[in-house]
This record gives sequence, C-alpha cells and structure tokens, in this order.
Amino acid sequence: MRTQMFDLTEKVAVVTGGNSGIGWGMASGLASAGCSIVIASRNVSKSAGAAQELAEQYGVRTHAIELDVRDPASIDQMPDKVLAEFGHLDILVNNAGVNLRKPPQEFSVEEWDDIQNTNIRSVFLCSKAAYPILKCKGGKIINTGSLTSLVGSGRTSPYATSKAGVLQLTRSLAIAWAPDNIQVNAILPGYIATPLMIQARKDSPGLDEHVVQRTPAGRWGTPEDMAGPAVFLASKASDFVTGEFLVVDGGYVQGLFLVP
Ligand code: NDP
Repeated sequence: MRTQMFDLTEKVAVVTGGNSGIGWGMASGLASAGCSIVIASRNVSKSAGAAQELAEQYGVRTHAIELDVRDPASIDQMPDKVLAEFGHLDILVNNAGVNLRKPPQEFSVEEWDDIQNTNIRSVFLCSKAAYPILKCKGGKIINTGSLTSLVGSGRTSPYATSKAGVLQLTRSLAIAWAPDNIQVNAILPGYIATPLMIQARKDSPGLDEHVVQRTPAGRWGTPEDMAGPAVFLASKASDFVTGEFLVVDGGYVQGLFLVP
C-alpha cells in the first residue's frame, strides 16, 4: 500500500513573512501538499493577495492576518485569529526577517534592536504563543536561519548574531518540546533571489558572479527551491528529526574548497 508520507491535508500552517520570497516558497510547498495556509505579516493586503493566489493555485483554504513579529501584543493575538478561522494549528513557520549591511561600528542601537526583535525574539515569542495549541495534537515548527547561523559576517553582524540565535533556539525548543511531540527544525537558505537580496546585489558589486561561480549548482536559489524542504520538515516524513538544520544552498557551503 502506498503511504501518504508528505500529505498535509487536514493540517493548518502559519507562515510569517509568507507574502514574499522564501516564506512564499515554503507556503507554496505546504499548500501543494494540501495544507491550509495562514499568511502572517505586516502588509495585510499583500498577504491577502498571496493567500488568494495559493487558494486558486492549489485549491486549499487560506487566510491572511496582520502580524508584526516585533510586537508582542500582535503576536499574542495570532493564535486566536488562527483558531477563529480554522479551529486548530499544526505547523508554525517562523520566517519573517530583515537585514542591513554595514560595518559593526556603524550600527545604531535602534537598528540592532530592530533586527534582533524581527529575526530572533520573534521566533521565541511566536513559538511560545503557538505552543499551547501545537501541544494538543503534536506539531511542527520550522525556523528560517541562514548560512550566517553557522559562520560570521563582517557586514551583517546583527543579522548573523540573530541567525545564530535562531539555530540555538531551534535546538533548545526541540529538546524542551519533544515530549509534546513537537518537532522543531531550521532551514538555512543559501543565496536565494528574493526582494531581501535586491539591496545586497546593489550594495555588493560582484555578488551575482560570486554566487554563481561558488555554488556547485551554478545558480542562485529561488523561492521554489524552499518548497520541498518545508514539506519534509512539516510532514510525518520528519517525525524523528528534531533540533536539526537543513542547509538549502545548492552546495555553496560544501563548495568552500571546490577546485575549478
Ligand atoms: P523578503 O524581503 O522577500 O521577505 C521578508 C518577509 O518578512 C516579508 O514577507 C515581510 O512581510 C516579512 N516581515 C518583515 N518584517 C516583518 C515584521 N516585523 N513582522 C512580520 N513580517 C515581517 O525576504 P526573504 O524571503 O529573502 O527572507 C525571508 C527569510 O529568509 C528571512 O528570515 C531572511 O533572513 C531569510 N534568509 C534569506 C536569504 C536570501 O538569500 N534571500 C538567505 C538566508 C536567509 P511584510 O513586509 O508584509 O511584513
């Protein structure tokens, strides 16, 4: 008998930052497996458009909610908004994130705090808010890290700090909530062509060529490349995988000592 290992029908997922880029790619993957999707970010009209597109493309139920992941009060409202629409929550994708590029000495305390609050404090607060619902039937949390979860970055020090934190929080939540049958894992994307990278490509001459040359796959990643990894970590295929990270980078990290 064939199994439905990756089937997500009957499941409901919240994807923060799901109206753009990597979040959109992950939301599309989950929807393609039958999952109902809640797109959660600040720009609610953009999120509503993304939700409608997913509903039309995959025939799943979708919903858009306003969420500012920097704001604890906004996060506290998230579970009730999801329950009001769907009655349960099974998968939380903590993906919203921002970045700024400059040397460490040029960052203001406001910029530092904004990046930490958006990229890492949000992962803690959204996970904490979702926990009481997820633990009812077990569930999945997927956090978006970065290659800077693993290595430092001279021009994005607050960002790299936040993304290293994402990885340690992933491991810590995984340990704490394993008895509740909640698996917590991280996806670490490499260079993915999204709106977030438009500024980086402007600020860093030669970045385009560097990525193509250094990546064994010979190209930038796309939001669509994030779909399959998200489905794996959201489905019962990964029920014995927790506290782990999955690098999705076309081999960029492995290409460190690549001889042409
Ligand atoms: P985008 O700029 O395309 O998307 C960012 C998303 O985050 C948007 O949907 C935005 O929606 C949302 N967002 C930003 N701030 C907030 C906030 N305060 N509250 C709620 N939502 C917010 O970027 P990417 O898709 O590239 O990035 C997504 C994630 O992937 C980030 O965590 C990023 O660090 C990570 N990443 C990206 C890489 C890349 O190469 N692109 C590489 C490694 C990691 P809205 O404006 O409506 O709030």
